Amino acid sequence: MDARYLRAVADCLVFHNIIGTPSELTDANFKAKVRAFQTSHGGLFVDGDIGELTAWELQARMVTDGLQLMSVNVPVDSTPSVQSVPMNLRADAAGAAAQLFAAVRAKGGIVTSAGGFRPLSTTPNAHQSARSMHYPGLAFDLAVATGGFDPDKDPFVLERTGTTSGPNYWRVWSRATGGDSQTITATVHSGSWNNIKVQTKTVTGKFINFSDLAREHGFQSIGPRSAYLAATSKQYMSSEWWHFQYEAALIPNFSQLGIEMIRVGGPTYTAERIRAANANLWDERRAIFRQKWN
Ligand SMILES: [Zn+2]
Repeated sequence: MDARYLRAVADCLVFHNIIGTPSELTDANFKAKVRAFQTSHGGLFVDGDIGELTAWELQARMVTDGLQLMSVNVPVDSTPSVQSVPMNLRADAAGAAAQLFAAVRAKGGIVTSAGGFRPLSTTPNAHQSARSMHYPGLAFDLAVATGGFDPDKDPFVLERTGTTSGPNYWRVWSRATGGDSQTITATVHSGSWNNIKVQTKTVTGKFINFSDLAREHGFQSIGPRSAYLAATSKQYMSSEWWHFQYEAALIPNFSQLGIEMIRVGGPTYTAERIRAANANLWDERRAIFRQKWN
């Protein structure tokens, strides 16, 4: 069993007095200890498996009582033609983003922004996920007009990796005087953003691999939405090349959207306030990372 997963469950079981110390939980007794927790919590199906309801009961009160991670502003750069949106992220993601951006700037690159936290009241449009990582402040977007149009000048240059969908669809390069010489088969967009034309152009110059650097700092990209991959009326705003999310904070098959929102400090991110601000979002609270939440 994955060590981080085991430890996260163990910490919850200690909180709920099912075990005394985290090291008491092992692969061998895992199901029995989870069953003991489920038995002690009325209403849970006692099967020893951690589904959405059990994961929620394990984490919710511990997170409510625990350390809160505040919203932190991360400084970003603008270009002469594109004014960046201020970027606020949850403190853990903000710390990692600040280090990532410092590494980009140290090589002569810039980091533009279309924002981080999404207000809880936001109803997702066709290009946005109902379970977005932006709600708990774990994702940032680079400014959408600062890459993918003019690869000889844009701060960011996009390249297809060869996969046809999914999180590794894009490789994003950052133009940087201190970067390495690269020859890139750049994706170039033109025309209406609601019927975008996609071509390629070979460019050479000094770049750093922003996607790799982001991954080293805990941030993963996501793939385009179907409206960008469609054969006709391709939607630029569904390309998602600009989106990076702090998956280092999350444990596959255990972390939940609502738990990660409650972890955000301040009066806005209590269970009651989130439910009042956006009932649909609250309905998604138990979605588990790498299951219904990606
Ligand atoms: Zn995004």
